[in-house]
Amino acid sequence: MGRNPAIAIDGPAGAGKSTLAKLLAERLGFVYVNTGAMYRAVALLWKETGEEPEKIARHLDFEMRGDRVFVGGRDVTDLLYTPEISDLSSKVSTIPGVRRALVALQRAQREKYPVVMEGRDIGTVVFTDAEVKFYITASSRERARRRKLQFNDPRPLKVIEEEIRKRDERDSTREDSPLRRAPDAILIDTTNLRVEEVLRLMEKFVREKLKNIID
Ligand code: C5P
Repeated sequence: MGRNPAIAIDGPAGAGKSTLAKLLAERLGFVYVNTGAMYRAVALLWKETGEEPEKIARHLDFEMRGDRVFVGGRDVTDLLYTPEISDLSSKVSTIPGVRRALVALQRAQREKYPVVMEGRDIGTVVFTDAEVKFYITASSRERARRRKLQFNDPRPLKVIEEEIRKRDERDSTREDSPLRRAPDAILIDTTNLRVEEVLRLMEKFVREKLKNIID
């Protein structure tokens, strides 16, 4: 029996990965998996309980229902997207034991469904054999602008841009699974593109590659 197809979407914070991954999954009829939300969930529980992040990750009861994120049955969506949790998630994501546990959860998803999975290491570590890999990026100024709009962040653009840059730097320089473009990933710079344009491009690549599998 063949494996379920996987579409990998990686790139730095605020490049548009979540929006694109969600819409692409909808169009293809695949399950959308947001791995950043898993690292954020570990960070949140770490902040709340002070328990070891590895232990939290190993026992993480994570579920997405539509746009909402549930941990142990509790809807934590509104607690995950704060500057503090962004920072803490990038910190816990440097811990190899945390990554190992979450990668196992991510791989288990593909055992069950065809997936569109977004994160930092999907094409380089989680699914090196993904049918299609995308690396989505945009200028740091544009990414800061999108974050500001998305989260209604009242802080000056410069402050948000600096924060994003710091997180990118940590994500790209960590030992274990740094943010990197896989050599076979399709690079898309979305700085001057609209969502619909990028989506059409991505869908074309995927349908071409999977033409014998999906209709
Ligand atoms: O994608 P998002 O910004 O929600 O991810 C939050 C943090 O989780 C990232 O800054 C990164 O440190 C970490 N992450 C990761 N590997 C992934 C997804 C997210 O290390 N596959």
